[in-house]
Amino acid sequence: MSLHPSDDTAAAMEAAGLVPGQSPVPLRLPDPGRLFQARAGRLRQLAPGNPLEDWMGFVACLSDAQHLVAAQPARADSPEQQWRHDLAALLQELAGRLPQTAEAARAALAGSSAAEQEALAGRIIGGQLEAADMIHAPFVMAALQLAWSRHAASLTPGSIAATATARACPVCGSAPVAGVIHSGGEVEGQRHLHCGLCHTAWHHVRATCVSCGDAKDLSYQSIDGQEGGAQAETCDGCRSYLKLLVEKKALGLDPIADDLASLALDILVSEENYQRIGINPFLLMGE
Ligand SMILES: [Zn+2]
Ligand SMILES: [Zn+2]
Repeated sequence: MSLHPSDDTAAAMEAAGLVPGQSPVPLRLPDPGRLFQARAGRLRQLAPGNPLEDWMGFVACLSDAQHLVAAQPARADSPEQQWRHDLAALLQELAGRLPQTAEAARAALAGSSAAEQEALAGRIIGGQLEAADMIHAPFVMAALQLAWSRHAASLTPGSIAATATARACPVCGSAPVAGVIHSGGEVEGQRHLHCGLCHTAWHHVRATCVSCGDAKDLSYQSIDGQEGGAQAETCDGCRSYLKLLVEKKALGLDPIADDLASLALDILVSEENYQRIGINPFLLMGE
C-alpha cells in the first residue's frame, strides 16, 4: 500500500469551492434523531473486510443504542448533567446485546459510582486516558456524544459565533474529526469541519491548513487505488494533516464511520511525520 497524490482534488481545490452568488452556510447543527442510526448503517456498510471490522461492528452496536436513547426526552438542562442519565439509559439498552468481554465492561461501568464516572469523563475530555480506562471509555464517550448533541440541537445557528477559520468546534470546543466537501444543495462545494463530540459542523475555507492557516504548502494524498475514498490534506508548513471526505465520491458518508474505515491512510501519513489535527473519539480507544 502506498500514498498517491490526488491530482483531481488538488485541481478542484483551486476553485473557490462556492457556487457563484452563493454564500457559505456557517454552521450545521446536528439531528440526534437521525445521525446515530445513519452512523450504524454506514459502519455496517463499510466494515466487511476492513482491518477494524470487529471494532466497527461494536461501534455500530453503540450507535444503535445511542439512537434509541436519543428518542428519550432529556432529563437535565445541561450536557454536564444530562450525560450520566444518557449513560445509564445506554448501558440498559446494551444489556445482553454485547460479546462477553464488552458485556463484563458494561456491567462493571453500570455498577460504578457517579464520582468514578465523572472522573473517567474528565480524562476523556482532557485527552488523558489511562490504559485501564480503555474498556469503559467507549460507553462514556457515546453518552457524552448524546448529551452534547442534544445540547447542540437545541441551539439556534444565529446565536453561535463561528468564523471561517475556526479550528475548534464553536459549540463545544473540540477539534474536528474530519473535513467534508459537500455535494448538492445549499452547501455544494463547501467544506465543513465535523465535531466528534456534539456533531456540529462548521464552515472552513477550503485549501487552507486548518492548523496554521497556510495555503501554499498543502497537498492531497490518498491510498493508491483508493482515490475515491478519504484523502489527507497535508501541510508542509506545520507538518499537520486533516482527513478530508468528499461527499460526491462517498455518498452516505458519516465522518466518524468513514474516518474509522480509513485508518490505513492515517498510518501511511503519520509514517511521513505528519501530525493529525483532532482525533476520532472511537479510534483512540480501538487501538
Ligand atoms: Zn462540538
Ligand atoms: Zn499548516
